Amino acid sequence: MARAIIDEKVCKGCGLCVSVCPKKILRLAAERINDKGYNPAEVTDASLCIGCAMCGIMCPDSAITVEK
Ligand code: SF4
Ligand code: SF4
Repeated sequence: MARAIIDEKVCKGCGLCVSVCPKKILRLAAERINDKGYNPAEVTDASLCIGCAMCGIMCPDSAITVEK
């Protein structure tokens, strides 16, 4: 099963991955803040991930790894 793995420590909460995901399964975790002081991105429903890797390509900080 494809899945996107987000390194929350690296994420700067820019939201680019959220906007690009065709399955709309990424969001910024409003209730959590990482060590950098940002709301990190998270996957809401991993079972819907199609492994397109758009999120990983878009992330300016290479915080997302996609496994197929
Ligand atoms: S790999 Fe594609 S479907 Fe999966 S979370 Fe990233 S953008 Fe969304
Ligand atoms: S694109 Fe990268 S840095 Fe921006 S919110 Fe997504 S994981 Fe975080």
